[in-house]
Amino acid sequence: APKGETLNFQAEVKQLLHLMIHSLYSNREIFLRELISNASDACDKLRFEALDHPHLLEGAGELAIGVGFDKAARTLTISDNGIGMSREEVIAHLGTIAKSGTKEFFSRLTGDQKKDAHLIGQFGVGFYSAFIVADKVTVLTRRAGLPANEAVKWECSMTGDTAGAYTIEPIEREVRGTEIILHLREDQDDLLSGWRLRSIIRKYSDHIAQPIRMRKEEWDKDKGEQVQRDEEETVNQASALWARSKSDITDEQYKEFFKHVAHDHEEPLAWSHAKVEGRHEYTQLLYVPSHAPFDMWDRNVKHGLKLYVRRVFIMDDAEKLLPFYLRFVRGVVDSNDLPLNVSREILQESKDIDTIRAGCAKKVLSLLEDLAENDKDKYAKFWGEFGKVLKEGVGEDFANKERIAKLLRFATTHADTPEQTVSLTDYVARMKEGQDKIYYVTADTFTAAKNSPHLEIFRKKGVEVLLLAERVDEWLVSHLHEFEGKQVVSVARGDLDLGTLEDEEEKKAAEAEAGDFKDVLEKLKTALGDRVKEVRITHRLTDSPACVVADENDMGTNLARLLKAAGQ
Ligand code: ADP
Ligand code: MG
Repeated sequence: APKGETLNFQAEVKQLLHLMIHSLYSNREIFLRELISNASDACDKLRFEALDHPHLLEGAGELAIGVGFDKAARTLTISDNGIGMSREEVIAHLGTIAKSGTKEFFSRLTGDQKKDAHLIGQFGVGFYSAFIVADKVTVLTRRAGLPANEAVKWECSMTGDTAGAYTIEPIEREVRGTEIILHLREDQDDLLSGWRLRSIIRKYSDHIAQPIRMRKEEWDKDKGEQVQRDEEETVNQASALWARSKSDITDEQYKEFFKHVAHDHEEPLAWSHAKVEGRHEYTQLLYVPSHAPFDMWDRNVKHGLKLYVRRVFIMDDAEKLLPFYLRFVRGVVDSNDLPLNVSREILQESKDIDTIRAGCAKKVLSLLEDLAENDKDKYAKFWGEFGKVLKEGVGEDFANKERIAKLLRFATTHADTPEQTVSLTDYVARMKEGQDKIYYVTADTFTAAKNSPHLEIFRKKGVEVLLLAERVDEWLVSHLHEFEGKQVVSVARGDLDLGTLEDEEEKKAAEAEAGDFKDVLEKLKTALGDRVKEVRITHRLTDSPACVVADENDMGTNLARLLKAAGQ
């Protein structure tokens, strides 16, 4: 058999390890949650693969996770009989960081411990958190279906001259799955206690669907201490959290479950848990995270929910379960009706999925409406993180357009600050006597929007204008033509009709002036030639001498600029 070899970690792994050990130390017990979460994922994956390939179960169908400790050796062991890893998978998953968004993560590191600690919290910590409490980690694993002599031993020590590298060698291993042995750092002996481990598991991992087993303990009078028996017991509830009744689930459990499904280290902002009955039966547990994922703008990344069918895990990131503009939502859908062999291709065409997607979108919108109504601070936080994505919904989700429009928040000339806090409902409530339209201005930056010469007349008349400066805003206004019967119009339109806001006298004066200035207008028009369609007298400017406006049927100048920049 080939001998073991030593491989170097990807540079980022070293950096991550260093950062993690130092910034997460105060919360070190999370390592157990992360390793149990991985063990649970591995069991889910095996159960799924075994639907088509039952031989993978190798006759041992009950999937479980084990946690043990050895006081004398000063080790902790986390084991599972899930999917396991092949040699290639071990190298790919434990020697590099393949996750998307990682680049982004590293580019944001500042070197300031406090800020970076916060960042790592957002990133999700995973397997490497083992090194918070261990200075050496050994992984023994065999992928389901591979022969016993194709198992792998991976080992990495943080001490001595091999630090920064790991070894990998082939081993024999009868049992399928993965065993992770943590050789504890010097000051971690408090973890070598059944009582302590049980309490950490109950705190962070109670929601895990597979049983987590530990050896039973009893008091030994002669030794004067707890000793471990050969018998095992299950220390968590071991049932899928979303399948339990709401009244049996604490907020803490919901929060811990979020960290598991979302691979997120921070608490969720809000969640919604419901059983839907009727023609299609399914359970949904949907979370709004408290921060935007790093890859929210990466169109190649699959964003979606975890799909289960009758408790059997089917796939991660089932993007068909949510419309694209809700891609920040995390959670689980468990269907009672879909076939177990459902694939991404089948999902594409499934009518059942359309119903579920519509149901999930409605649930998320209700959740957001509830926040907007009852928890303004949280809603403001939500808007800061995800407002730009939600705006896409106005053009994407025709059925819910009105509801989404109500959830939008804008900066306006009312406060004249960049904070986006004004809803269209607020705007309409503040409309001037005689005003029948909602006005907006778009620009590349907030400052440019705020200082637009088009606003002069509106400021003079005290009419509020939405100040739009995000890229998505052009898309938004091209789909949001009206709100509650009020037209939404740009202040830069040439034929801007201020309606009854403009008094008769002003109109007459304008017409008279147009006569007076006829010659000037002609001259300007000849000078500008093909570059303009028309030159008009305006009363919309109070300080600036002239401005460029768009014709009613033309695209806005800002959109034209964007298209030009995109090479169109
Ligand atoms: P994440 O769980 O977010 O993918 P981790 O750092 O926790 O990130 O784990 C990295 C990868 O290592 C996992 O995606 C999985 O492929 C692999 N892995 C970790 N633990 C196990 C395990 N117990 N069994 C099988 N594969 C595992
Ligand atoms: Mg993980």
